[in-house]
Amino acid sequence: MTEKIDIKGEKDMPAMAMSLGLMDWNKTGSWRNLRPVIDYEKCTRCMICWKFCPDACILIRDEEPVIDYDYCKGCLICAEECPRDAISVVKEE
Ligand code: SF4
Ligand code: SF4
Repeated sequence: MTEKIDIKGEKDMPAMAMSLGLMDWNKTGSWRNLRPVIDYEKCTRCMICWKFCPDACILIRDEEPVIDYDYCKGCLICAEECPRDAISVVKEE
């Protein structure tokens, strides 16, 4: 049986994800070839992308998901999981 995910805020995130993702020396944004971009017209603020990001680099700001590109590696799990197709993918320049 699958356990239900019940994460209500950053305090509920796994400690390793938070500490590794937010330490200044561990910036991983330069690894990215593809960039996820949130379309806030389509986004319903369901926060599924925030729950699934393996690097804990989708932040919640004013009740909206905001991608921290200093840490986003471009794995695109967020785009895959978004139920509204609100995250598009663009080639990194
Ligand atoms: S999963 Fe999609 S709709 Fe939900 S908050 Fe993220 S971008 Fe918005
Ligand atoms: S592309 Fe991957 S690392 Fe970047 S915000 Fe989405 S899930 Fe997180």
